[in-house]
Order: sequence, then C-alpha cells, then structure tokens
Amino acid sequence: MFTIRFHGRGGQGMKTASHMLGNAFFMAGFEVQDAPRYGAERRGAPMTAYVRADKQDIYARGIIRKPGLVVVADDSLVPVAAAGVMSGFTAETVLLIVSREGSETWRQRLNISSPVKVLTPLTSKLPLVSAACAGAAASLCGKIEVEQLIEAVKQALTGYDDKLIEINVDAAVRAFEVVKQDRGIVKQLPESSASDYARPDWIELPLETADRSAPVIHAAQTSVKVRTGLWRTRRPVIDEQRCNQCWWICSSSCPDSAINIDAQNRPVIDYEHCKGCMICVAQCPAHAIESIPEAQAQQEEKT
Ligand code: SF4
Ligand code: SF4
Repeated sequence: MFTIRFHGRGGQGMKTASHMLGNAFFMAGFEVQDAPRYGAERRGAPMTAYVRADKQDIYARGIIRKPGLVVVADDSLVPVAAAGVMSGFTAETVLLIVSREGSETWRQRLNISSPVKVLTPLTSKLPLVSAACAGAAASLCGKIEVEQLIEAVKQALTGYDDKLIEINVDAAVRAFEVVKQDRGIVKQLPESSASDYARPDWIELPLETADRSAPVIHAAQTSVKVRTGLWRTRRPVIDEQRCNQCWWICSSSCPDSAINIDAQNRPVIDYEHCKGCMICVAQCPAHAIESIPEAQAQQEEKT
C-alpha cells in the first residue's frame, strides 16, 4: 500500500494536494483514501493530510504512522514538534520537501539515509506549492501517468476559473517532470496490524491535593521554545483603562498560557507565544481586549 503524508500550514493547500494525488491514484486504478487532519484549524497552523492507495481493499483508518513518502510544503515545520514531520520516519521513507536547502543538507540535518528530494520554491512556484507537491508525489510513486495527474488536478479544482486551473496543471506537470529521474522510488509498505501498536507505558501517579495537582498557572508553560506567536494573524491588545483586573479570566482562558500577571496584578500578553485564537477577547467580561490585524499592529510598532 502507498502511504503518503503531507505536512503544511493552514492555507498552503495540502488538503487540496492530497485530494489531487488521491484522484490521480484513483484514475490509475487504485483504491484510495485521502483525508486532512487539522490541529489548531487556522491559517498558518501546522496541518497534515493523508493518502492511502492500494490495489486491494483498504481497511486501515486514521492517521498514517509509517509513511512511505512524507511531503513537506514548508521546511520551517521540520523543527516544530507539534507538526510531527518525522513521526514514523523509517529507512524506507522518502522525504519530499520544498526548501532552498539541498537534499544533502537535509539528510545530514535529520541524520537520515533515505532519499530526500527537494523542490525549490522557484521550481515549484510557491503560490502553487499545493499542485507542485501533488505532481512531484505522483511522479515519485511511479504508478501515475501525467495524463491522469492532469485530469486529477482539474477535478480537484472544479469550479475555479480556467486560468487558475491551467497554472495549477502547469505547476503539477513541471514538478512531475523535475523528479522524473526518481520515478518509482516510493515503496509500497505493508498495512499496519494490531500488533504494531504498543500498549501505552502507564505511569502510576499518587493522589495529590488539588492545590498541588491543579495549580493556577499564570505563566507560559506549554510552548516556551515553540514560538506560536508566529501563527498569529490577529493580535489581542489589552486596553489598560478598561481592564478592571478581574479574576484574570483572560489569563485562565488562554490555551497557550500566554497571558501572564505582572507585579502590579495587570495582565500582560506574551506575544512570542500568543497564537491569536482570540479566546481572551471573547472571554473578557469588561470587553477590555481588542482584536486588531497583526499586520496593522506590526506597522504601528515600526512608526
Ligand atoms: S479578563 Fe479582561 S478585565 Fe479581566 S484581567 Fe483580563 S483583560 Fe482585565
Ligand atoms: S489570543 Fe488571547 S487567548 Fe488566544 S493565545 Fe493569544 S493571548 Fe491567549
């Protein structure tokens, strides 16, 4: 079975890429599954999409744990633990990555010996990274003809205007050709069985009093090293005049613990980690937190 896992950021079109590849496999006579999986479900956040393709019926469901091909549309996702780019990577896994770095650099950086194919942004025309990734993946799998790929891209973009479809087809075909010398390097791997799943390694925790086991945390705890602030498209800004320093509902509501309380008991947003979900804006009873576009906030900081 072909097992292909796409990694990208919300908005890069990896769901569409998986759909294009799934369509192409289907036209080549395969049974197919293609499905996206979102985390934070917002633009810029890491997401994955999966394609399974086999000539037999497919009984496996859910996420692909041992991919034959990992496609990465944005190389900045590799060090993001939550993105899980290297999850289940084996010596048989091929890596296809959109990057300005070369394949040898990635092989050394990730300490892997398996094939790494690089699509440079110029080759793939970045705005069309979705079609380019689908085209290159189709070529590397070796069972899809270029005519089937073209038809699959057109089907996935049904309803869009002809010009957009044309440039996506062009990007897919060019990426298909760029990696053609490696056509067929992606291996079909056996389906995982129940015995592949290890039982969790349970840890017995002693009972603790609530003040120890569920303390109120007013500091960034979940993502000190992962700067989730880069995901933000809107910025919450606290109006100090309106903030009545209630029970710091904003701080308790923030899923990233990105609102700290300073020595004067005022809430302070940690913009390195605030991912812009706007939960605090909705929760503040005094309506003291405003939501403004991130681009506007950055522009105002410069002036
Ligand atoms: S929830 Fe609103 S009023 Fe309460 S501390 Fe936060 S910003 Fe201030
Ligand atoms: S928008 Fe508010 S709740 Fe959401 S991450 Fe940022 S500070 Fe936390």
